Amino acid sequence: MTRATDTVLKGLDEIRPWVEGAYKDLHAHPELGFQEHRTAAKVAEALRADGYEVTEGIGGTGLIGVRRGGDGPTVMLRADLDALPVAEATGLPYASTATGQTADGTAVPVMHACGHDVHVASMLGFARLMAWAPEAWRGTLVVLFQPDEENGSGADAMVADGLVERSPRPDVVLAQHVLPYPAGGVGTRSGSFLSAADSTKVTLYGRGAHGSMPQHAIDPVVMAAMVVVRLQTVVSRELAAATPAVLTVGSITAGTGPNVIPDRAELQLNVRTYDEDTRAEVRAAVERIVRAEATASGATRDPEFETLAAFPATVNDEAPTRTVADAFTEHFGARAHTIDRQSASEDMSRIPEAFGVPFTYWGIGGTDPAAYEKAVAAGSLTSDIPVNHSPYFAPVLQPTLDTGVRALTAAALAWLAAPEG
Ligand code: ZN
Ligand code: ZN
Repeated sequence: MTRATDTVLKGLDEIRPWVEGAYKDLHAHPELGFQEHRTAAKVAEALRADGYEVTEGIGGTGLIGVRRGGDGPTVMLRADLDALPVAEATGLPYASTATGQTADGTAVPVMHACGHDVHVASMLGFARLMAWAPEAWRGTLVVLFQPDEENGSGADAMVADGLVERSPRPDVVLAQHVLPYPAGGVGTRSGSFLSAADSTKVTLYGRGAHGSMPQHAIDPVVMAAMVVVRLQTVVSRELAAATPAVLTVGSITAGTGPNVIPDRAELQLNVRTYDEDTRAEVRAAVERIVRAEATASGATRDPEFETLAAFPATVNDEAPTRTVADAFTEHFGARAHTIDRQSASEDMSRIPEAFGVPFTYWGIGGTDPAAYEKAVAAGSLTSDIPVNHSPYFAPVLQPTLDTGVRALTAAALAWLAAPEG
């Protein structure tokens, strides 16, 4: 452990109850993307109390806190603010009972089911410790809190609202995510880490008629069924065995009753890929199949494609990943490891991309290590350990939060540590 890391983390015991309190408060008061007003205000208040220059309202509810510590590198660390439309079922004393409204006005329950509250609380703890130990580091620290990660729009919104002009230019961008691995562990990965995710709505047009008179109809239900089956061949028959991809038809809607052939059907597709070539290949295959099935059905109007969300692939730069991995090995010992590629997606990389700087993004465990071990022994990992977005997703408070704070500290100081002497 380097002396700078030791110096900064000296305050960890003292801030632990505050970090845990902040976490429970965030967990009990989750907010949907671009509606994180209370969360952003709490963050701004904490950062100002610790002497950060705060700029609020970047891309709606996004904000940054800047602390200058003399000449040296600039490190930006990013956390995400938003929660999900999920009804919490953890039964925790600080469980959410919050409700909210989606962009289209639908009332929904809201839960921090992805652990972004862990990211925010860890970042606040880290920011406070860095403010308490100015002698341990040199350079500029930027902590960034992004709205609306779950819909993949928050990072772009901050960039579109002038983030690059409003923030010091970082030399590197760092971020972390809590994942369903044993708490206390940290995992880094160079190169491809998270998938690109493309969500698309496909509308197929037929011709409506009486259910007893199919000769007058072009049946979009049959068309949609054929499309769904045929799409299963994109990954299984068109991609090489070693090329990972997922294609899911998550929603299929058509018709109103048994005796009416409707005039259209809607499919909602989600595609996960890990590189741009495969992404383009799958996109082209989907379009080809949808159009061909419409033609095969005798559709008189072309199908329509609408992009619902598009996340880039998260591909960690090698040099900063190695720097962080080395810092983690030094700080965490055997609890630092290489992590598997994940099928989830992130929009974080839009931020370093906007600055034209490298980044690395790592995972921290949030699952009770004993429960994890038991599930591994029983072969029941997939059924017994709740994953992100589950109504039962509940990271154990510790060592998860401590690890979040320690990881940010060790990683940031790999660039910012003051010369010893
Ligand atoms: Zn999520
Ligand atoms: Zn998340």
